[in-house]
Amino acid sequence: MTTMNPWTIQRVVKNGRYLRAYVPDHPKANKHGYVLHHRIVAENKLGRMLTEEEVVHHLDNDGRNNNPDNLAVIATQSDHFVIHNSHKSRAFTNLVCGHCSKEFKREVRQVKWKKQFKYYCSRHCMGLAYLEKSNHRPNSLTVKTEVL
Ligand SMILES: [Zn+2]
Ligand SMILES: [Zn+2]
Repeated sequence: MTTMNPWTIQRVVKNGRYLRAYVPDHPKANKHGYVLHHRIVAENKLGRMLTEEEVVHHLDNDGRNNNPDNLAVIATQSDHFVIHNSHKSRAFTNLVCGHCSKEFKREVRQVKWKKQFKYYCSRHCMGLAYLEKSNHRPNSLTVKTEVL
């Protein structure tokens, strides 16, 4: 997986419930050069573009609080609907494995939305990550991933 260069936000404006960022180079920019600010923040945090299906959820339900720790990337619009409308059903989010960089799904309620937490796609990867940590060499090539 290639890591995306972070988007440079030239300006942020209020638009209804949300903020919009002026990022004219972004493929999703409207004709005035604006994209939803929370999607840009989420893309910068993930280090990749969001897919068409993915939805950014504000954990505190404040649509303008775009602190990276307040944003959760939800796999699909229907998962997002579940978060807002039901406590019984399961909603999933896409995470990137802290070891092999593979994307995998996890239940939203099992995830702590902090940047410093790493998640692993399997016990196998978790084991390898701990091993690597214990014989950590300062110059070793570690895979650069950011995990929501
Ligand atoms: Zn939401
Ligand atoms: Zn993995």
